[in-house]
Amino acid sequence: MQIKIAVLPGDGIGPEVMRAALKTLKHVAEKFQTETQFSENLIGGASFEEFGTPLTEETLKACLEADAVLLGAVGGYEWENLPHHLKPEAALLRLRKELALFTNIRPAKVYNAFIDSSSLKAEVLKGTDFVVFRELTGGIYFGEPRGYDANQGWNTMIYQRYEVERIARRAFEIARQRKKRVTSVDKANVLEVSQFWREVVADVHKAFPDVELTNMYVDNAAMQIVRDPGQFDVIVTSNMFGDILSDIAGMITGSLGMLPSASLGEKHALYEPVHGSAPDIAGQNKANPIAMIASVAMMFAYSFQMTRAAELIERAIEKTLELGYRTADIYQAGNKLVSTDEMTEQIIYNFDVLY
Ligand code: ATP
Ligand code: MG
Repeated sequence: MQIKIAVLPGDGIGPEVMRAALKTLKHVAEKFQTETQFSENLIGGASFEEFGTPLTEETLKACLEADAVLLGAVGGYEWENLPHHLKPEAALLRLRKELALFTNIRPAKVYNAFIDSSSLKAEVLKGTDFVVFRELTGGIYFGEPRGYDANQGWNTMIYQRYEVERIARRAFEIARQRKKRVTSVDKANVLEVSQFWREVVADVHKAFPDVELTNMYVDNAAMQIVRDPGQFDVIVTSNMFGDILSDIAGMITGSLGMLPSASLGEKHALYEPVHGSAPDIAGQNKANPIAMIASVAMMFAYSFQMTRAAELIERAIEKTLELGYRTADIYQAGNKLVSTDEMTEQIIYNFDVLY
């Protein structure tokens, strides 16, 4: 198999964590006899400095032609006062739109090596491993009419059938690669749009009889994620509910430096860490590369159905943490403090041990 990847290192720690991720990716691809082809382009502030725009047509073209896009992070102090359309973040918005990425996926995976240092109880957290599918291009954030005047403010929560169908289908497909359980989250006791959502998800479910479907109200879901996160496998929900739930899910699992994400469209996919460009630690070889490396694992699983490669990367991360290796952001007394590069080498080493 040959895979074509567009690489966008970006700003701040982006290039450092990308270097770590690419080293891991190339190693894994070689082990799995997968031929890789890379294009690398500037994006964000780095692109603005070179070309006067945060996203060039050439970069966009490379992304549209690739099987998957890997993004580091964009942004930094020096570009904060630029006009809106020249800011690094504008590049991301345009890119997401051009790639038509309608689903954002964030995993909530608790690493056993971390449980002792978490504020939540060990027995609650142990074995937590679920993903949140957030609808990204519809719902109340985009619905019309919208506005406000002196006396009132209004927004519209609206979903088209195809919008619910395509994200539900993705959720069921990926649940099949996992524990085969989907929880659809809504507010159907109050909102008609949620009743509609629920009916469409049930329709899509008919093609996936081997996957279990449960419906849950969003207020209950927020509570259940904190009370008993181990019950979930795939949560699928609308834009606003997903915005909130994916933050809750992320925070029960540990550090910002460990959270990967995937954004999927019908034809395109983009993988990036949840964290930003962290300009405060850029260029010091101390950024945590795990979020970016775990984003590569998601890429193997979701874009190339290489679930074993993905699993081995995740287990290598887990093993490296169990052996006590920590970058500065997750370091506690008694751990082995390592740099970005050293952490990456350990992960690759443990990948080979597990392979
Ligand atoms: P955004 O760029 O999305 O606005 P932000 O500015 O809120 O994000 P980050 O850039 O992610 O946040 O940084 C927040 C804090 O977390 C910073 O102190 C940063 O150093 C730290 N941080 C973020 N990512 C990492 C990482 N991979 N490794 C170590 N520390 C990190
Ligand atoms: Mg920032």
